[in-house]
Amino acid sequence: SAFTVGLTGGIGSGKSVVARLFAARGATIVDTDQIAHSMTGPHGPAMPAIVAEFGAQYADAHGALDRAKMRALVFSDPTAKARLEAILHPRIRDAALAAAAAATGAYVIYDVPLLVESGNWKQRVSRVLVVDCPEAVQVARVMARNGLAEDQVLAIMANQATRAQRAAAADDIINNGGELSALEEQVARFHDLYLAFSAGTIT
Ligand code: ATP
Repeated sequence: SAFTVGLTGGIGSGKSVVARLFAARGATIVDTDQIAHSMTGPHGPAMPAIVAEFGAQYADAHGALDRAKMRALVFSDPTAKARLEAILHPRIRDAALAAAAAATGAYVIYDVPLLVESGNWKQRVSRVLVVDCPEAVQVARVMARNGLAEDQVLAIMANQATRAQRAAAADDIINNGGELSALEEQVARFHDLYLAFSAGTIT
């Protein structure tokens, strides 16, 4: 079957930047966050199941998920997160696989922020590529990008896999603790590797 890469990394590690660099070289990126968002957007394909499970009050006037209400429920009801994920994860997986089947790029990269934390993506991809950077750099980038306080970023990171857990799941690691030029060099190197894997010149 076709050669595929699962791209992951902690919040602010640089997954989106890395995905753009691979796309510029001709890889097809399948963004699972974007799929999840459209599933729960206005009259999205997951909305009927969400309304059936949680009630019509979880859809807003446009037929999209009321994210604030769902966040509040997940906070107060310990079963809600798993029930929501049971609806979303299989649908995200199927839509991602369908997008990959229609891909025209040299190979497919699935952008899966929580690849290490959830589901069985690791078994579905040929290689796992982790974007890694020091935690202090992650914190600084997310504070700058999202205007969050340090403790808010640390709280999000506490709910994600650790650097060590990600490294243990990785076949390949990109270090994004430095300059963008250093990032580009690493992407170029892995792109050549992935082309060789997809061409079958290495196995
Ligand atoms: P999230 O998990 O929140 O979606 P992400 O892993 O996709 O984050 P990016 O959005 O790619 O991370 O990067 C986080 C921020 O850091 C962005 O504002 C991005 O422009 C910046 N950034 C990423 N890499 C570098 C770098 N090497 N040098 C400077 N800024 C960077």
